Amino acid sequence: MKFVDLPAQQIRIRADLEKRLRAVLDHGQYVNGPEISELERTLAKDIGIRHALACSSGTDALLMALMAFDIGRGDAVITTPFSFFATVEAICLVGATPIFVDIDPTTFNLDPTALERTLHALSENDRSLPALRGGHSPRRVKPRAIIPVDLFGLPADYNPIRRLAKIHGLHIIEDAAQAFGARYFDKYAGALGDIGCTSFFPAKPLGCYGDGGMCFTDRDELASKMKSLRNHGEGEDPYHHVRTGLNARMDTFQAAVLLAKRSIFAEECATRSRNARRYKDLFGDHPHLTLPEVPEHHVSIWSQYSILAAASDHREMILKRLHAHQVPTAVYYPSPIHLQEAMAAQGYRKGDFPVSEECADRIFSLPIHPYLSAGEQSRVVDIVKQTGP
Ligand SMILES: *Cc1c(COP(=O)(O)O)cnc(C)c1O
Repeated sequence: MKFVDLPAQQIRIRADLEKRLRAVLDHGQYVNGPEISELERTLAKDIGIRHALACSSGTDALLMALMAFDIGRGDAVITTPFSFFATVEAICLVGATPIFVDIDPTTFNLDPTALERTLHALSENDRSLPALRGGHSPRRVKPRAIIPVDLFGLPADYNPIRRLAKIHGLHIIEDAAQAFGARYFDKYAGALGDIGCTSFFPAKPLGCYGDGGMCFTDRDELASKMKSLRNHGEGEDPYHHVRTGLNARMDTFQAAVLLAKRSIFAEECATRSRNARRYKDLFGDHPHLTLPEVPEHHVSIWSQYSILAAASDHREMILKRLHAHQVPTAVYYPSPIHLQEAMAAQGYRKGDFPVSEECADRIFSLPIHPYLSAGEQSRVVDIVKQTGP
């Protein structure tokens, strides 16, 4: 059993993949080849947005989005401490200060009620707010944007987030690195903020064979600025620079891989969703496990199937047992970001975001990829069920 089964997927697309990669070898445009614009047009159409910009990774997509809003030193960006580190890394790399807001324990996404409390506390310069404890005052850090993360493939709750962003004049940058293909009401993930960012890292639901990412936006001025940022701040031509930017282009080969995978992506999404239903049926009502829930008007892409064990020692027992039976598992994430060593200078402490901290202690993820069999799933569930707290 595999946690992500790229070989099984490759068998299905191998002929198309070889044809597309050979086409790149033949035309030789390894950077900015025609596959890049074909991928951008295709994915923009898939999620119903005006602009899609292929780039070098999900992390660079976040950087491009932050830079498009000129966010930097003296600015603050609000986000969740329960995500992959890159979300916060991008904020820190542009010189801005991350301000964390705790998560909802059932969706693992930014809690809009906690967001409202934090925004209120920021405007009151309330020193009991963990973010202001270190001496940052709203005069020194100006909140500019919110980065909600669509964790495990489930979109965050954007309606209340948008309402609050509007009141406080904040931009929304959607971290849809795990959620390409997911939906919230009538919109697709990637199209839920002012700018959406996704990742095509191989293990993501739609992944390439290396690093890749994409920025999405409906706003023409942001799209043209990000296009410039992606290529060293280019102006009218590649040797005219109007700003300092990045080298954040996607390789043509990766676009070719993504076009091949995109042809089976809708079917893979349906299979992931079937697998999630199957887990739910197989587990039934389990007294010691909290299974993932999808709120109304949300469609998850199920990039991870993450369960809460009763407590951290219960989780360790489950993981040990699964490991003994050669079942691959993962813990996303064993430590919330505010407690990471790299964040020490921000002055956060254990206890600041109790929901994130408790989830980090109890969470674990089971394989849910589209090539998992029903037999494998029931074997996994039997092992987990036999492990009491
Ligand atoms: C994977 C991921 C990223 C970073 O994407 P890369 O392509 O690996 O740079 C950012 N945010 C989240 C939530 C992710 O899961």
